[in-house]
Amino acid sequence: MSVKRVFRWEGRYYLHETILPEMDYSINPYFGCEIGCRYCYSIYYFKMKKVRHRWGEYVEAKLYLPKLLTKNLGRFKKDAVIGIGTYSDPYQPWEREIKLTRRIIKILRRRRDLHLSIQTRYPLIIRDMDLILSGPADIGTSIPSIDRRFIDVFEPLVPSPEARLKMLEKFSRVGVDTWLYIAPIIPYVNDDPSMFRELIYMARDYGVDTIYTDIIRFRVGVKKYFMEALEEYRPDLIPKYRDIGRKELYEIYDSRVKVYREIAEEAGLKYIDAAPMMFRY
Ligand code: SF4
Repeated sequence: MSVKRVFRWEGRYYLHETILPEMDYSINPYFGCEIGCRYCYSIYYFKMKKVRHRWGEYVEAKLYLPKLLTKNLGRFKKDAVIGIGTYSDPYQPWEREIKLTRRIIKILRRRRDLHLSIQTRYPLIIRDMDLILSGPADIGTSIPSIDRRFIDVFEPLVPSPEARLKMLEKFSRVGVDTWLYIAPIIPYVNDDPSMFRELIYMARDYGVDTIYTDIIRFRVGVKKYFMEALEEYRPDLIPKYRDIGRKELYEIYDSRVKVYREIAEEAGLKYIDAAPMMFRY
């Protein structure tokens, strides 16, 4: 798969206030994500902006952001929590070369009160550890499944679950709060509590503090990619997913939440069901 990488020199940044849990603003250094997970809710942004490439095959680096953030740095409210990488991975492979996320973090760190909440699946974040640790931060990743086949089909370019958890462990060891998003939960596909239990205990062993779960969101454009992957992974579920409605999906997910909470709490971890907070997504 070849990826078209585009530098964007011009653009706007309004202080993006976000409804995402426990964050005040969001910053995404990239538009598009070359990792191309086949359940990603950000596929929707390609639809919205009428991008003609397939999801995962096109990414823009927002090179205008450092200048705009420098100019607007004083406008973030005091002690604000800024989510970095809320719809596109800030440490995706291109970042190794162009260090855009690094430049942005450097600028934000001029204000020592700003709390950075960074979500990534790439251990490249460890490169910027000193910078990140020079102020308040928390670090998270997502792992929807530890089933090898699921990973090969739905997120083939993502580092292994162990690599993602080891990355969190590096931060956890120096006292940074770490969290794991077990998401998207896809009823009948990856919602089995026994897999959840295994993953929770792995996360605990790597020092994770908090577990979030969230349901799959079929925003415009997502279902097509999801169905292609499902056809490879579990063709027997195709008729079910052709007809399944939002109500049924939520009912199944909600029936699991109680069990997930019990398992997480039994392991001594904080558990947050993010689905109600993400309802507008
Ligand atoms: S890494 Fe995250 S943002 Fe990138 S495609 Fe996968 S789910 Fe989407």
